[in-house]
Amino acid sequence: MNKTKSLMKFLPAYLHKRPWLFAFLLILTTCQEGSSLLFGLQDQVQLGQQTRDEILNNPGEYGTTLSRTEYPEAYAYLDEMFNEILASPELRYRDEFAWEIYLIDQEGTVNAFATPGGYIFVYTGLVQYLDNASQLAGVLGHEVAHSDREHSARNLERQYGVAFLLDLLLGGGEGGLAEIASQLALGSTSLSFSRDVEREADEFSVIYLNSTDYACNGAAGFFQKLRDQGQCNSFTWFSTHPDPCERVESINEEANQRSCTSSNLDEGAYDYNDFKADLP
Ligand SMILES: [Zn+2]
Repeated sequence: MNKTKSLMKFLPAYLHKRPWLFAFLLILTTCQEGSSLLFGLQDQVQLGQQTRDEILNNPGEYGTTLSRTEYPEAYAYLDEMFNEILASPELRYRDEFAWEIYLIDQEGTVNAFATPGGYIFVYTGLVQYLDNASQLAGVLGHEVAHSDREHSARNLERQYGVAFLLDLLLGGGEGGLAEIASQLALGSTSLSFSRDVEREADEFSVIYLNSTDYACNGAAGFFQKLRDQGQCNSFTWFSTHPDPCERVESINEEANQRSCTSSNLDEGAYDYNDFKADLP
């Protein structure tokens, strides 16, 4: 891995194209807050897109991504849910990010993840584990927040360093992309989100779902199920999304404060069980 490559080796070429970034870097060196991001929105989309391609092109490594032509009904169902969430007025980067969603066929993997720039991956194992549409919508809302609130970009920036990521954007390091894709797909602990970030993703899951027909505390339903079954530490989800079982109450409280509906919606002819049944 090239993580230790000198920052100075890559920055000049990059800064040449973006002089404003130079000033920004100078400011950063004097007031480095955890929230500062060196990647613009376009950079985040590009990094997400490259990571997506790495995942799609290597099914042996990351699991087979279900194709839209082979599973049209399942994707129509998932897309409708995804688009309802994305229609939330609280979304910051509806137009700037790519917002693509993929199903990865992996039985038993109860997980989902988001790259920077709005690429969301959902394992079939998660869909099969959940009981209803609102629970899945709650988890999707949580993942959308990780992209839209730039948690994913910040996490990668912290883990890999700016020089390494700039190198990838400049087309330098394919091994690096494989590294990032596998860490995301395998739920590596080194990309684990902080508790504050997890709490914010939960909060925004409620906020996004508030403008949909799904129960706005859908994510709590997932965590409650894990808790009831004593599975609070048994899935990949927990390596990158710490302490979910601790957060059932805070999600429900968030929903109460917003007086949003917490009853699961009545679905049409094709419902969550049909969606599950259509998956391999
Ligand atoms: Zn999370």
